[in-house]
This record gives sequence, C-alpha cells and structure tokens, in this order.
Amino acid sequence: MTELPAITHWIDGAPALGVSTRSAPVFNPALGTVAKNVLLADSADVDTAVASAQAAYPLWRDTSQAKRQGVMFNFRELLNARKGELADILTAEHGKVTSDALGEIARGLEVVEFALGMPHLSKGEYSENVSTGVDVYTLRQPLGVVGIISPFNFPAMVPLWFFPIAIAAGNTVVLKPSEKDPSASNWMAALMTEAGLPAGVLNVVHGDKEAVDALLVHPDVQAISFVGSTPIAKYIYETAAHHGKRVQALGGAKNHMLVLPDADLDLAADAAVNAGFGSAGERCMAISVVVAVEPVADELVAKITERLTGLKVGDGMRGCDMGPLITQAHRDKVASYIDLAHTDGAEVVVDGRGIEVDGDASGFWLGPTLFDRVSTDSDVYLDEIFGPVLSVVRVASYAEGLDLINRSRYGNGTAIFTNDGGAARRFQNEVQVGMVGINVPIPVPVAYHSFGGWKDSLFGDAKAYGPGGIAFYTREKAITSRWLDPSHGGINLGFPQNA
Ligand code: NAD
Repeated sequence: MTELPAITHWIDGAPALGVSTRSAPVFNPALGTVAKNVLLADSADVDTAVASAQAAYPLWRDTSQAKRQGVMFNFRELLNARKGELADILTAEHGKVTSDALGEIARGLEVVEFALGMPHLSKGEYSENVSTGVDVYTLRQPLGVVGIISPFNFPAMVPLWFFPIAIAAGNTVVLKPSEKDPSASNWMAALMTEAGLPAGVLNVVHGDKEAVDALLVHPDVQAISFVGSTPIAKYIYETAAHHGKRVQALGGAKNHMLVLPDADLDLAADAAVNAGFGSAGERCMAISVVVAVEPVADELVAKITERLTGLKVGDGMRGCDMGPLITQAHRDKVASYIDLAHTDGAEVVVDGRGIEVDGDASGFWLGPTLFDRVSTDSDVYLDEIFGPVLSVVRVASYAEGLDLINRSRYGNGTAIFTNDGGAARRFQNEVQVGMVGINVPIPVPVAYHSFGGWKDSLFGDAKAYGPGGIAFYTREKAITSRWLDPSHGGINLGFPQNA
C-alpha cells in the first residue's frame, strides 16, 4: 500500500513535523477517498509556533512600513499570478467548483490589496497646542502574536480576511486552519515566504481542539480571530477573553431572503438559487430561507424549482455548478433534514438524494433540495443546516416577514428583493442583522468595509477586515508632549488643566 502524503505544520519559515504523532485524514470529497493525512498539533507544537512568532515580533514590528508594504505587494502579485494552483487545492480538498474557488481567492485578494494601504490606514491623529506648548497625538501600534482559527468552508478567503491585515500592521501570526482542508494555508505561508516575509512572522499549525485550546490560553498570544460555528465561537470568545485576550469570534448563520410581491420574481429566483446552492450551501452567507410575501409564493417556488432541475452537480474540476459536501458525515447529516422536513409537515419540492452526478459515485454528493411551507418552529427552519437545502416560508405581509427575521438567533446576513425603494429603506433600518442586501443576495461587504454579523453570528465587538480589522489588530497609544523650558518649573499637585 502506498503511503499517503503528510501535511506538516509551517513553522519558522519552513515545513515542520512537530512532536505530536496524532494525525487526521483529509478527503477528496468528489472521490470519497482519503487523499492525505494532516498532522494534529499538541500544546508543545503550539508552543514552538508561538515561540517562533514571538521571536520574530520585535524585528517585524520595527521593520519600516515601506519594507512591510513591499512584502505584501509581492505577495499580492504572486497570489494573483498563481491563483489557479490555489484554486485546484481548494477544489481537491473542499470540493467547491473551480469558478467558485477562484471567486473565493478574488475576495481574499481584495483584503491583501486593502492591507497594502496600511501606512495610511494606521495613521494616528495630532492636536497641536491643546494647552500652552502642549501637543497630543495618537499612534496605532501592533499587538504582538495573534492567533487565527479558521473554518473548512473558505480555506483561502477566511485566513486572507485576517493575516494580511495583522501582518501589514506589524503583528506576527499563528494560523490554525480547519483540519478538513488544511493545504491552502501551507501554500499561502510558503508564498508569503517567497514574497520576502521573514521566518516566524506567519506560522501555520494544524490540529483540532487540542491545538485550539493551547492557543486560547497561551500567555504570549495577544489576540484571537475565530470563524466557525456558533457553539464553538461562543466557547472561543469566552475562553480567550477569560485569558485576557482581545477576541473576535464569528459564528454561524441562517440567512433569510425576503421577497416582496412587487419584486421581479425571475431575478429573485435566480438570486435564491445562486445564493442558496453556490458552494453546495456551505457558505455562512448562503441564503437558507426564502420568505415569500403572498400572493407570490406559488409562482416563486415554481421558478426556483425550474432552475434547480438545470443545475449540474459533480466534480468541481469538470465545469459543474455544484460540488460535493465536505465529508460523508456532513452529507448524511444534511440529508437527514429531508426526512425531518417530511415529518414536520413541510413539502419536499425537490429531493437531492440519489441525484445523478458528473463524478465518482463514492463522492459525498447531495443534490439541490427545496422545502416549501416550512414551519418556523421546526428544526429544519431553526438549525443551520449548512448544505444545499433551501426552505421557503410563506408570510402574509412585510411586517410578518420582518418579525420572523428579527426573531432569529442569528444575524449574519439578510436580503430584501423589491422594487419599492421605501420598503427597502424601511427594511435596512428595521432589520436586526449585521449585513443587509437590497436586491443583492450575498451582501459580503468589500474589503474596505467590515464583515460581521449580529447576535449569535458574532461574539465580541470587532468585525473582520476593513476599519474593524485595523482597529482589532492595532492598539491606540495617546501621547501628551511638552518640550520643557524654565517657565514650566514649580510644584503643583492639582489635576492637570489646560490653559
Ligand atoms: P467549526 O466550528 O466546526 O470549526 C471551526 C474551527 O474551530 C476549525 O479550525 C476547527 O478545527 C475548530 N474547532 C472545531 N471544534 C472545536 C472545539 N470543540 N474546540 C475548539 N476548536 C474547535 O466550523 P466549520 O464546520 O469548520 O465551519 C462551518 C461553520 O463556520 C458554519 O457554522 C458557518 O456558518 C461558520 N462560518 C461563519 C462565517 C462568518 O463569517 N460568520 C464564515 C465562514 C464560516
């Protein structure tokens, strides 16, 4: 039997085996086979990575903005030129189709480009003569070693939301990507080295809860950025905050798309299908519930159904619309909601089980699935299913739809489809969700605005990238300065006042 390739850590600018002997299988989800094994770090391996980042920090922090920017610029150029290689890695380990993998990389590149503006973005403020001969100014300085823990569904984009900004701001990083599709992080770390990044500034440790826990409590880690499911996000937030760290923990979602009767139903159906089934629904900004305001539900469901029958499911390398799910276990869990929907009285309009695929029969396949008349107290409605499953809920009015969205425990993204500007404006004001689309189904903000939800979709108050990212990875220092002359002498124990 041939031995499978091992995915090692990346520490101190080179591949590293670490001391832990645990490992986990990494699948090719389109084939249903184990393609590689990834090492799973223990706390000693995390210590080694943090020590490397801590040792690299003083020099990197004091490296000129121009030199740091030069490295980021090289990285941007290399990543853009070689994005096809990275897309192939994403398709092989995650299963998403090539066009979607390239889209993910493009959104990550946006953040690299944003981080190139760091010299401007991290500038402080200056007030002259706040008191006679006294000036006050602020600086934004890096934090030190920061930990990034990312999910399986965006193996390139989510790390890219964070490490370019953290590094451009002068921090050093330990990245712990998902153990389900870990290779993209190593590939990007090697590319950063090729771009001129000094050893130790970006380290990658692979692992599971054991590695994560070691990062959360490590005394030399100053901040944690996490993206993943809500229960883990809450745990990360509470544990890391308890250990005195700055934390941003982005959690799960259940995103609603409200379709008003005046909407263009063809455009709304296109949007629901694109946003519901792209990346097999494994997106935190996927639309998972269409809220149809009567009397348009019948027509909208018919239009969505018609579009679903045309979707090609199969191996991501073969020009299909939708790939497999990440693991067999996840595929089976998602499929179990189809039985549940039946039991709960929903109408299963399209059942994705047993779909014909353009790929190997052993892949983790589930075709597009559509439920209608879903009850809002069923698990199908309430749970984050995270697969190619779209639910339709029928409501009588805008107010009923809005109330439904606002009662959700999640508040990541939402969208309204309408041609009524007044209704859209009212929605943007009234809806309790962090990212809102108006006739835009996946309203992921561009890199110079920040990404983050409300309620159980984000723990902590700092959003990812954009101004939120700059604020998170830097801390402000305020300096009050006076250049002394003899007129400033004398004793005065009173609280300083300005004059
Ligand atoms: P996950 O929560 O299972 O894993 C995320 C990370 O946490 C991984 O690195 C994993 O190794 C680690 N982890 C898993 N269990 C842990 C534990 N018990 N203790 C400590 N660490 C643990 O999430 P996932 O399945 O990889 O990703 C899908 C989830 O991520 C979905 O819920 C999705 O909505 C969410 N997500 C959210 C956003 C967002 O921006 N809000 C973006 C992408 C994904």
